[in-house]
Amino acid sequence: MSEIRSALVIGGGIAGPVAATALLKAGIDARVYEAYPGPSYGIGSGLALAPNGVAALDLIGAGDPVRRIAQPVSKMILSVGGHHHHLPALRGEPPLQMVDRAALHQTLHDHAVAAGVPVEFEKRLVGVDEHTDGVTARFADGSTATADVLIGADGIRSTVRGLIDPNAPGPQFTGMLGFGATVECDAGIPSDTMVFAFGKRAYYLYGAAADGRVFWGANLPHKQYLTLTEARAIPAEHWLSILRDTYAEDTPGGALARSTTAEQLEVTGGLHIMPPVQHWYRGRMVLVGDAVHSPSNSSGQGASLAIESAVQLARCLRDLPEPAAAFAAYERLRRERVEGIAARAAKINHSKTPGPVGRKMMNLLMPLMVKTVMNPEKTMGSEQRYRIDWDAPVQSELVSA
Ligand SMILES: Cc1cc2nc3c(=O)[nH]c(=O)nc-3n(C[C@H](O)[C@H](O)[C@H](O)COP(=O)(O)OP(=O)(O)OC[C@H]3O[C@@H](n4cnc5c(N)ncnc54)[C@H](O)[C@@H]3O)c2cc1C
Repeated sequence: MSEIRSALVIGGGIAGPVAATALLKAGIDARVYEAYPGPSYGIGSGLALAPNGVAALDLIGAGDPVRRIAQPVSKMILSVGGHHHHLPALRGEPPLQMVDRAALHQTLHDHAVAAGVPVEFEKRLVGVDEHTDGVTARFADGSTATADVLIGADGIRSTVRGLIDPNAPGPQFTGMLGFGATVECDAGIPSDTMVFAFGKRAYYLYGAAADGRVFWGANLPHKQYLTLTEARAIPAEHWLSILRDTYAEDTPGGALARSTTAEQLEVTGGLHIMPPVQHWYRGRMVLVGDAVHSPSNSSGQGASLAIESAVQLARCLRDLPEPAAAFAAYERLRRERVEGIAARAAKINHSKTPGPVGRKMMNLLMPLMVKTVMNPEKTMGSEQRYRIDWDAPVQSELVSA
């Protein structure tokens, strides 16, 4: 039985509201503090939730609200040099759920509030004071809040990560910039299909949006790292001309880029991957979601892993007597899985940014790659079939872990 009664959750993105709702279900009072003025501060247009992520949402009752705003994607195609390879689905698993990122933030926020989680906006964490029996968060507006534990769900540029360990690594640049848009364009695909396309010069993906338009996302190889703010400071017209040039020889990449207007273009900035983080927790502070394990957009698992970790952390705080034991159990349940998925994504990132020699090699290696991807059990089985047994005491799982 836990002696932990209260938690401060820093960050109201995806992991934050899920962690707080799961903590409440576990009998721990949780309060969310978000730096921005509202719940739907989006970076990027769409996001695909994997079956494992949606199953974890079901445990806190958020699965159905998310399914209601999502579009199921049951068919996937790998397009290499214009040749389409239909990827077999993972047998027995539900489809991916494609959601608008802002709508997902809003839905998870609404669900947390309805469950009884207080959420405060414009609360940017700037520091902490640690006591033997609690932790106090200090916010930029001069206010403070105190609880038994503090959970850093504050994303890839986490402040809490640096408070736990000033020498913690920061995110690494994958060598690509992200862009997205939903446009009017005939891409010739049915509504429940997503295409992952290795174009002649760059990778992109696209699928049919619920309103009949087509959403697409570009991963543009770029030597220079640009933050979101830096990338957005450059006029969208400039990016559009680069995207139109890069995808000119691809079908339908060229048409998608030409159909996109400056107003429609979502600029995401440098795409990141988190290297392994040595210290997941210290004292009464712990990390969850992108703050500790961002496997990059290439994994298609970032949000799903953030949700899983949030639920597992709540279980550990429910079942173990004090923070150190709960945090150690949480890390033990999560580290291997999230680092394995990040390693797979890092390989994909390499194939998305080949040099001139690599590009030639890639054409030769692609048939092999297609063959590997064609075995969904091998590539996605352990990722997507993962389920959390909420009712089982964590101690029983640790024995078998
Ligand atoms: C282009 C792109 C495409 C992606 N596609 C997918 C996909 O298809 N599928 C998938 O599963 N994942 C995808 N991801 C990854 C996914 O977006 C992340 O893994 C997910 O958002 C992580 O959730 P989080 O809650 O940990 O962090 P975030 O969603 O980043 O939320 C962190 C929150 O903390 C707040 N915050 C930060 N600092 C402070 C502070 N000091 N004080 C208070 N609040 C603070 C932020 O404002 C933010 O609201 C993609 C990512 C990108 C960039």
